Amino acid sequence: MTGRPRPAITDLPAYKPGRSAAAAEADHGIRDAIKLASNELPFGPLPTVAGAISSGIEQIHLYADHGAGQLRSDLARFLDVDVAQVTVGAGSAGILQQICLSYCSPGDEIAMCWPSFEAYPVFALLVEAEQIRVPLRDETFDLSALAAAITPATKVAFVTNPNNPTGTVVGTDEIVAFLDAVPSTCLVVLDEAYNEFVDDPRVTDSTRLLDDHSNLVITRTFSKAHGLAGLRVGYAVGHPDVISMIDRTLVPFAVNALAQRAAVASLAAVDEMRERVATVVAERARVRDALRTRGWTTPDPQANFVWLPVTDAAAELGVALERQGVVTRAFPDVGVRVTISDTAGNDRLLAALDASGVTPR
Ligand SMILES: *Cc1c(COP(=O)(O)O)cnc(C)c1O
Repeated sequence: MTGRPRPAITDLPAYKPGRSAAAAEADHGIRDAIKLASNELPFGPLPTVAGAISSGIEQIHLYADHGAGQLRSDLARFLDVDVAQVTVGAGSAGILQQICLSYCSPGDEIAMCWPSFEAYPVFALLVEAEQIRVPLRDETFDLSALAAAITPATKVAFVTNPNNPTGTVVGTDEIVAFLDAVPSTCLVVLDEAYNEFVDDPRVTDSTRLLDDHSNLVITRTFSKAHGLAGLRVGYAVGHPDVISMIDRTLVPFAVNALAQRAAVASLAAVDEMRERVATVVAERARVRDALRTRGWTTPDPQANFVWLPVTDAAAELGVALERQGVVTRAFPDVGVRVTISDTAGNDRLLAALDASGVTPR
């Protein structure tokens, strides 16, 4: 071993990104594989967003605005909050890491339900925090059990709504009850990476909870509904004190100039974004119904993916689908998560499931 890395880092499992279509093609000697493994949108950039990126190339020799002033003020207007309540980061994953860096010392606790977003344990290990993992109930965040697991040493609690990988939501009433039960010394991080895809009426605008709960911080992203995953820009909304602590751990110029321009343009085209999201949501309902008709159990999907909780068949099903050119995300012994695509992609998924040899369950 060269140098003296921190033991926490030599022990750190690398974050596993979704497998690419090219890797599946090479492995199985097939062509035309599709990747439904990373919850990406099936569309390229909106024309105005592509234009904003192209014209930004002329300025690429200059550092970006570290504070992302225009994007922050546009977000504040969009969200109807004060500009001091908003910050941006290199994807919302970047912000989640900043929150752990800003708030957690070795030995502090980070609480979450599980299974959930696989980056949380990586960030907890990075700051040498203890993880408290509470099982989901009915594939859904169990907020009363999570509240009961919080101790005076818990600095951060993650609530993922909709949850990844199960796609389920908790209602805003339940989040209010959770906030009322949790001590104000624990930051509640409401990860809303898939907020724009939710159509369950129990979920209402969580930013309205900020006035009464200074320990709430909401994270969202341009990666999913806005389709800008490759550019890396996400945002957080919370109390100005929390926002300023998050800002202290932002790597200088981490949100690059093209990402800022694209995010500003995408926010200005929010109606077009919503139209695209509506097509994904309509396809999601079609796929959900088709799965249930075939005998698959799937909890009500509220993000841009469906979840097949097939437990011990997960690895086998993942491989069977991949051999047919449909790359999904299998969580061994838990389930398989599949991103909603366009109609053709979703039809391929359904056909591959039928031919997988795995009995619907
Ligand atoms: C995709 C995702 C994110 C972060 O995505 P970024 O590209 O970093 O913004 C955060 N949380 C959950 C639950 C996600 O699935």
